[in-house]
Amino acid sequence: MARQRTKDSLAEFQRRLLEWFHVNRRDLPWRRTRDAYRVWISEIMLQQTRAAAVLPYYRRFLRAFPRLRALARAREERVLKAWSGLGYYSRARNLLRAARIIQSRHGSRFPRSVGEALALPGVGAYTARAVLSIAYGEPLAVLDGNVARVIARREAIEGDLSAPARWKELQALADRWLDAGSPGDWNQAMMELGATVCTPRQPRCGACPVREGCKALRLGLADRLPERRAKSAPVRVRVAAAVLLDGVGRTLLVRSPAKATAQNESRPEGLGPIFSRLWHFPAVVSTADSRTDLERHLSAELLLDGAARWQAISAIRHAITFRDVTIEPWLIHVEELASGAGKIVALEAAGRMAISSASRKIAAAALARLGGE
Ligand code: SF4
Repeated sequence: MARQRTKDSLAEFQRRLLEWFHVNRRDLPWRRTRDAYRVWISEIMLQQTRAAAVLPYYRRFLRAFPRLRALARAREERVLKAWSGLGYYSRARNLLRAARIIQSRHGSRFPRSVGEALALPGVGAYTARAVLSIAYGEPLAVLDGNVARVIARREAIEGDLSAPARWKELQALADRWLDAGSPGDWNQAMMELGATVCTPRQPRCGACPVREGCKALRLGLADRLPERRAKSAPVRVRVAAAVLLDGVGRTLLVRSPAKATAQNESRPEGLGPIFSRLWHFPAVVSTADSRTDLERHLSAELLLDGAARWQAISAIRHAITFRDVTIEPWLIHVEELASGAGKIVALEAAGRMAISSASRKIAAAALARLGGE
């Protein structure tokens, strides 16, 4: 009898949520398709970025690479350019690597099995489940931050949700609640509820289609769950950057060798995460006077002599994940740029290249400095 009641209430919960989703879902372009390639691109873009911010990038990326084959044969530089502005460039690099694997091993179709999907670079449990359920109707429940919050509140689960044992418990509940008849819609409905109603702060319980049976609401805990983790203090990094400028307004961009950067990537205070292994202005982590540090760096790396004219540019603040970066850029007028040391481009054009947002800020600050002369 009790089991029947639980079954009935689960069916009612599923019915209400799906009904609500069909009426209230945001009209997003990736929801108008079941094409696995497009669903995959959207899921990768949405990993660290809000849906509204993803929209223009999603359209631009698919204009450039409308099919998986077009992506698989593209040069990395072009893919990074199409990704430019979204940040976390390792996502774009993994997309390209995965597209090539899908082309060569899976006949250019995103694989249907979880094991094969998980073997692709950049595809974790969440992405594999999302793509397979939405594109192929596989009965797999997703668990991301939004879904975890909804489950934690409905079940009044306390503690740190990201702890491995708790996450496993949440995944088990997500699996149990899944509407296997329409897994793609179900997963999107759960995420939509978390993104628009059961929001991190001030959940709109009055407008919630599944408030009945919600334990957090009943216990007056909706605002307090999930418990917030204490944030650790950000890592502070100071970077000295050189905008070298020749007589015709050209500048020099460099790219760290992949090996050196891979080491940097793992160091929170390194340059790798700040410039995303993309073309960037010559720079060095500064521990003392930024000009002295930069002079030493430029003379060792680019054989820059002492004849250049230096102008300070106002410092730039740049937050990236847990880092609080202060960039101290210098405009350095030189006779000639060292060809062979990197890429020589017009400073005005640098901001339109595939560069990180930190580099874009440096370019903009340098142009503003020049404009104010
Ligand atoms: Fe979230 Fe409130 Fe709905 Fe419960 S009633 S699921 S806390 S929005």
